[in-house]
Amino acid sequence: MKNRTFFAALIAILALAGVAVFRKLDAAPAGSKTLVEDLVAANHVLANEISVLDAYGHVSVRDPRDPNHYYLSRAISAGMVTAGDIIEYDLDSKPVGAGHSDGYLERFIHGEIYKARPDVMAVIHAHSADLIAFAASSVPLRNMIHTGAFINDGIPIFDVRKVGGTADDMLIRNPMLGRSLAGALGKKTAVLMFGHGVAVTGPSLATAVSNAYFLNMNARVEELAIRLGGTVSYLERERGARPSVDTSPAGAAANKRGWEYWKHRVTSGK
Ligand SMILES: [Zn+2]
Repeated sequence: MKNRTFFAALIAILALAGVAVFRKLDAAPAGSKTLVEDLVAANHVLANEISVLDAYGHVSVRDPRDPNHYYLSRAISAGMVTAGDIIEYDLDSKPVGAGHSDGYLERFIHGEIYKARPDVMAVIHAHSADLIAFAASSVPLRNMIHTGAFINDGIPIFDVRKVGGTADDMLIRNPMLGRSLAGALGKKTAVLMFGHGVAVTGPSLATAVSNAYFLNMNARVEELAIRLGGTVSYLERERGARPSVDTSPAGAAANKRGWEYWKHRVTSGK
């Protein structure tokens, strides 16, 4: 009898260990280890290095080998994310594999933007105070810094109350609201969310992180310049100038430099 109890307990322990191993492997299938490591680093960079994410924001990355899937942490604060927390989703924001019911409520921000924008490889959702202020003000967010050139394309403002949300519930908690947000984003780099935050995109994880960094910096510089009084000069693109998406080797290298520095700091303990 004692032996039977012992073996039953052993089988239960092995089964639990099996679930744990399956969960980890499922979250990081072979070949995606670097992608998952970069996503973990991006969580820590955005939370701890460049103060884009608070305890509630999140960042995702599309799988380049399977563009109909993306990776996003389970619902914990970005600064605490580890590889074991990463969940693989399809573009309907349904988890791939079993046992992943603890995702972010607002994962539809990510899935619906990926669906609408095949060029987008990473999405960041943040609750930056400086950007929420511009979403609430009649003062438009305008380009102030050379690294914020994409702002010249326009940064739309999305108001969830116009598509079914209320002042008491502004979360993007279903696919319909995610589609509405993706529609407001259109072909732009970022969309401000009235009373809530921002969604920022990029053609790579490194560029999405840079875009989020410079969008926040631009908002603060604009506020400072306005507060100084006098006449504010904006850095607006001249008619007929090239589009702001900098795909040149120099632009890519500049984004990479910042990313590599921030990533080094979070992975090496500074
Ligand atoms: Zn949110």
